[in-house]
Amino acid sequence: MKLERREFLKLSAASVGAMMLAPDAAAVKLPNPLARAPEAWYRGQVSTVLSYCENCFWKCGVRAYVSDGRVWKVDGYAENPLSRGRLCPRGQGAVAQTYDPDRLKRPLVRVEGSARGEGKYREASWDEALSIVAAGMLSIKERYGSESMAFFAHGSGDSWFGDYLPAAWATPNVGKPSVSLCTSPRETASQWTFGRGIGSPEPVDWENTDYIVLIGHHIGEDTHNTQLQNFSQALKRGARLVVVDPRFSVAASKADRWLPIKPGTDTALLLAWLNVLVSEERYDKRYVDANTVGFERLASHVAPFTPEWAAGITDLAAADIRAVARELAGHAPRAVLPPGRHTVWYGNDTQRMRALYLVNALLGNYGVPGGFYLAQPPYIGEYPHPDFPLAPASGGCGGASAAAEQTIDLNYRQAVDQGVFFAKTTAIQELIPAMISGEPYRVAGLVAYGTNLFHSIPDVARTKQALQKLDLYVAIDVLPMDHVMWADVILPEATYLERYDDLAEVSGKTPFIELRQPAVEPLWDTKPGWWIARELGLRLGLDAYFDWPDIEAYLDTRLRTIGSSLAKAKPQGTIVQGGRPYLTDWEARHLNPFATPSGKIELYSQTFADAGFAPLPVYEPPEEPPAGSYRLLYGRSPVHSFAKTQNNWLLMEMHGNNAVWLNRSEARRLGLSTGDYVWLENEQGVREGPVAVFATERLRADCVYVVHGFGHRAPDMRIANGRGVSDVALMSRYRLDPISGGAGMHVTFVKLIPGAPRPRLPRLEKLAERSV
Ligand code: SF4
Repeated sequence: MKLERREFLKLSAASVGAMMLAPDAAAVKLPNPLARAPEAWYRGQVSTVLSYCENCFWKCGVRAYVSDGRVWKVDGYAENPLSRGRLCPRGQGAVAQTYDPDRLKRPLVRVEGSARGEGKYREASWDEALSIVAAGMLSIKERYGSESMAFFAHGSGDSWFGDYLPAAWATPNVGKPSVSLCTSPRETASQWTFGRGIGSPEPVDWENTDYIVLIGHHIGEDTHNTQLQNFSQALKRGARLVVVDPRFSVAASKADRWLPIKPGTDTALLLAWLNVLVSEERYDKRYVDANTVGFERLASHVAPFTPEWAAGITDLAAADIRAVARELAGHAPRAVLPPGRHTVWYGNDTQRMRALYLVNALLGNYGVPGGFYLAQPPYIGEYPHPDFPLAPASGGCGGASAAAEQTIDLNYRQAVDQGVFFAKTTAIQELIPAMISGEPYRVAGLVAYGTNLFHSIPDVARTKQALQKLDLYVAIDVLPMDHVMWADVILPEATYLERYDDLAEVSGKTPFIELRQPAVEPLWDTKPGWWIARELGLRLGLDAYFDWPDIEAYLDTRLRTIGSSLAKAKPQGTIVQGGRPYLTDWEARHLNPFATPSGKIELYSQTFADAGFAPLPVYEPPEEPPAGSYRLLYGRSPVHSFAKTQNNWLLMEMHGNNAVWLNRSEARRLGLSTGDYVWLENEQGVREGPVAVFATERLRADCVYVVHGFGHRAPDMRIANGRGVSDVALMSRYRLDPISGGAGMHVTFVKLIPGAPRPRLPRLEKLAERSV
């Protein structure tokens, strides 16, 4: 696994991704489909189509190569700011998803008399399937009101099923796993500290930074193409790197310092860094005076939190803690602590993220070269439609705690008055109990678009119980995932290479708009998400909101608001606009970027104080694992996205299974070696496995680690089924972050039960031959 720094820096983003596989990955072997018929190029029989990738949320611009009505290859194109001519392995592997023979092929309706979860279906026409869904929704509306329908959405099509259709239908109960199961703490903390969200891509000024501190941030394993390219270039320029992680991650292997912190103690470390910056007067005084409020209160708050105090908590040396704080100050403002993406850990996550932002603020790096740039969305007009109806006054029933909901309501109006964007999105996991109990009101229907209910929301048994209570459960997806085969009606979506979608509006230093367009016709009887949403909308009587004949007319109208058109955008793919990345750009126009109540960076948050939350970050000790158990940590593979890509034979050939990482001395104590199979069992007795052990010194002794996304139990997904273990299946509980609504998921403890059999699975090569 050792990769020389020099070699690493030479690699392209794609090959870096492939090289950064976890040790449980297989060797890389990619075919070159274009080698098949080079003469076709000369005959002009290969055409290219520009689009943007769907294999994760990053939205890299792609060029698809089409011949004989088939996509043979996708690649990046240079003019796109996200791909810059390169894709990661998942982007390259997208073709195998389109031609996966296990795809959902036509609408399915659950056989009458069969139970949810039994998996008995009959084929139906689109008209019949959509009519059943519309009748079910209208019946729910009549009996309980429109708020009784919930929508869960993930992926670029969530603009239809997580925004547009729910708004036209009038329900506040929209859940997005990308919020409360991922980013809500970092976004909420940023909103109430800087008055701006973080968004994607994260606005880190990689090009100009000289010192990077990653905290639980797995660059290289979470392969976000441009970020990985920028990170590699920063290291190549000589930027110094500190990685704080209980695991010696791939990023840690490139670092100048690795701080193997005790899990759950990051806030103590951040408070100690604040202490050093303040007590040694190493913060940027000019910046703090000009741009922040609450410094004096912060200074007295952090006075007791010395590196010696933090050392006893974090299991790190006080000298190392102090040294990093001094080095940060020495490189400021070209020093940065980028926020990770998956920030739902222990339930006090908004406070941890606030602490991280406060360190950045004292370095004077926000809106300054080498720190964070100020991202802005591009401008483009909407397709004209009537105002959306107001959702019923009862409000959403999946908010954070009552206190947080109150805070949000209290401050939301204030924030809106000041032009603040505040994502008031329901916490997806908090909707599940409402489906079971009917409190505060009945949620009787669910449309799940691209959201893997069993591989994202903790407490799978509770989710299954909730699905059994629904009057209507509709799944819109590409593959017969575990949760899809519980739905009453299954609507098969075309893959991204076969469809248009709404325009991608990407915030950045220079914001831009991307077009998704089909490279080929949809296979079988699958349909694009926009078509499904519109047809459903028309059957629901929402005609006024779908007043466009087809998606081309819709996109053309939107593009004309910026002087473009669909015809112009098709060969262009990406439309780049101008931005105001630095504070100096805003000052020159007499504008204030800090949309907080005070109009400044809020080191002390009066909003939090008013709502009963700590106005300055406080460290809360994590719950300790019981004797004989380990804390379950999880992360990413560079060739997989969530639980979406484990049926893709190209990607599975590179990484076809997960293993459980265990500290080598612990493995010796338990009599286990690499390659032995074990069961994982949580405190509630839920068992997952069998899974192979990876005994390593790259992990602390108080935790185990698995790559997320494996462990599908979906017989019709013949490649994914039965390979590896699911981390989410072991999460029988989570700890709610009362401020952001995030579900803290680092609170699972597992035992390793030896003696599990080696699973007998079909060889991947055999399954790959079945590609259509
Ligand atoms: Fe696609 Fe990879 Fe870019 Fe994600 S990072 S959009 S998977 S190419």
